[in-house]
Amino acid sequence: ARLKPDQTTTVVCGFCSTGCGLNVHLKDGEAINLSPNTDYPVNLGMACPKGWEALTPLRATDRATAPLLRNARGKLERVEWDVALRTFVDRFKAIQDAHGKESVAFISTGQIVTEEMAFLGALAKFGMGMLHGDGNTRQCMATAVVAYKEAFGFDAPPYTYRDFEESDVVVLVGSNLCIAHPIMWERLCKNKNRPEILVVDPRKTETAMAATAHYALNPKSDLTLFYGIAHILIQRGWIDQGYIDAHTVDFEAFKANVEDFTPARVAEATGLSEAQLASFAEKIHSGKRVSFWWTMGVNQSHEGVRVAQSLINLALMTGNIGRPGTGANSITGQCNAMGSRMFSNTTGLFAGHDFTKEEHRKKIAGILGIPEEVIPTRNSLAYDQIIEGILKGKIKGLWIIATNPAHSWINQEDLHELLGRLEFLVVQDMYSTTETAERAHLVLPAASWAEKEGTFINSERRIGLVKKVARAPGQALADFHIFQLVAQYWGCGELFKEWKSPEAVFQIMKRLSKGQPCDITGIEGYAMLDERGGIQWPYPEGAAFETNERRLFEDGQYYRPDQKAKFTFQAPRQLPEPTDEQYPFTLLTGRGSSSQWHTQTRTKKSAVLQRLYPKEIYVELSPVDAKKIGIEMNEWVVIASRRAEIKARAFVTNSVKPGEIFVPMHYEITNKLTFPAFDQYSRQPSYKACAVKVRRE
Ligand code: SF4
Repeated sequence: ARLKPDQTTTVVCGFCSTGCGLNVHLKDGEAINLSPNTDYPVNLGMACPKGWEALTPLRATDRATAPLLRNARGKLERVEWDVALRTFVDRFKAIQDAHGKESVAFISTGQIVTEEMAFLGALAKFGMGMLHGDGNTRQCMATAVVAYKEAFGFDAPPYTYRDFEESDVVVLVGSNLCIAHPIMWERLCKNKNRPEILVVDPRKTETAMAATAHYALNPKSDLTLFYGIAHILIQRGWIDQGYIDAHTVDFEAFKANVEDFTPARVAEATGLSEAQLASFAEKIHSGKRVSFWWTMGVNQSHEGVRVAQSLINLALMTGNIGRPGTGANSITGQCNAMGSRMFSNTTGLFAGHDFTKEEHRKKIAGILGIPEEVIPTRNSLAYDQIIEGILKGKIKGLWIIATNPAHSWINQEDLHELLGRLEFLVVQDMYSTTETAERAHLVLPAASWAEKEGTFINSERRIGLVKKVARAPGQALADFHIFQLVAQYWGCGELFKEWKSPEAVFQIMKRLSKGQPCDITGIEGYAMLDERGGIQWPYPEGAAFETNERRLFEDGQYYRPDQKAKFTFQAPRQLPEPTDEQYPFTLLTGRGSSSQWHTQTRTKKSAVLQRLYPKEIYVELSPVDAKKIGIEMNEWVVIASRRAEIKARAFVTNSVKPGEIFVPMHYEITNKLTFPAFDQYSRQPSYKACAVKVRRE
């Protein structure tokens, strides 16, 4: 019989960075179903298919319900928590004793609550002596972090979602907003200004189809394009010299550098016509409120930081920042990538501080009441460097939390081999069946979103609340609880006496943020977050903001020491793996549907979501190429890169141009093909373009 709820509460969705509010309907304190929250300022009563189905993955039959330890026969077998934790400590300590503290590292995630990330970062680095720890946010947002830090002086996405509704020109770059961030797209659809929507993407995505103009440029020619647009704007005097003079530095050098980016040169490099370039610039000039948005098409590139900064440059030089409907706006991926950016203690010391600065280490040690010597004085290796560390024999033990690199890492087969070389691999996850968990020596069963409490920070810097509305199955524990136990078994529990609960850690995070651009000292606690529908940072003590939707830089003051924003230029570089006679196609990868999330770890548990997406891997291929190869719709083709080959069904479509193919990232084998190149500043992997060949099966 259908259960009738006796109570309703609110939580923030645990999939993407939009951070929608959901009403969870309870019976006897347990969630039985949910509906979108009409009062939440983010989603205004809407949810995408993943949000509607968010409870289903909790009930999957392959949940990890007990710790699993690999036995002498190579099989994972159930053990008690005590055995698991003793093994965890004994094995990692033995590795550290034999090879040094740096030989054990961790890979974290943008999927756990901020308080857990903070605890993990503190425990691993201050308690367990690790130097190296990174997050899967490296695959997602590292580029935007570096771009903002250099341009603004702090990792600060400046916008609020209301800007989608208030722009009159919206530039979307490498963003299939329609399906990757469907609720943001809905917010854009609410825009009453009949905005120009300009989409820059090699592929005719769902978003490009709905745009007023689509610029289907050659893969990764975006940096050249935006320098070319800057050139036209400067040539025609369509810049805001007053804003540039008052609030920025290094414009003159930038101007000199883009002088060579003539329409003829840019047209040649991008494959767009000079008329298209002129019209792009004219549309920007004609807008009173122009906003520039980007996501993975920019971030996951060999020169992503410079591309992101080229968009920031366009916003700055046209004065399109700090006003309603404007901004240089990076859209985050995961539900808590922004929490990771501020409080994970991986790349940077807590709350935007720096491991390499003595005054920062002193300050953080004082706030936390810990000896300064336990804080590392060097930065961690980035994700790819940790993996390289395994190859070089320097990293021997790895603790992976709530992420699935055996599926998601670039050039996957190499990683599979390297995971096998580890002396001890611990995977802490809600399922024991992920491609990564299956390779672990020890699996720690973790509670899921909605089986624990804490906060997420969404793309517009809004801190939202997650509540416990369901019981974790079997012996699975909240990640927070697992970290407490690890601290106790490791013998460093004394350092974390104050870290008693997620809300206690939230209070610690407030102290860490005091005086920083992300200051949240004015947020009393969880009740206030719940009552206000989330709160955007900054929210310093004594803050009295008129609205709950705030953008940054309204006063033109940035976070760099001179309070000015900085223009940056670097000459575009060639694709790391360009096409050639042997591998004549460019492989594009990306999201395939609003119904699927990343490696499908959770979304494949929902029959509803599975029905919305092809089970079998497919490749989008142009009719011209299909004819050349002799392929019909739905036939199997072989796609080969220099690293591996896979089979996929042909989906013959004009969404891709001749010479380009697209394979969604959600399938397990897509990343066998991708080429391991990285942005030199952000170390973000360049998933978006590599060389392949295609043939009939
Ligand atoms: Fe959840 Fe993102 Fe969908 Fe909103 S758009 S319901 S946050 S997955």
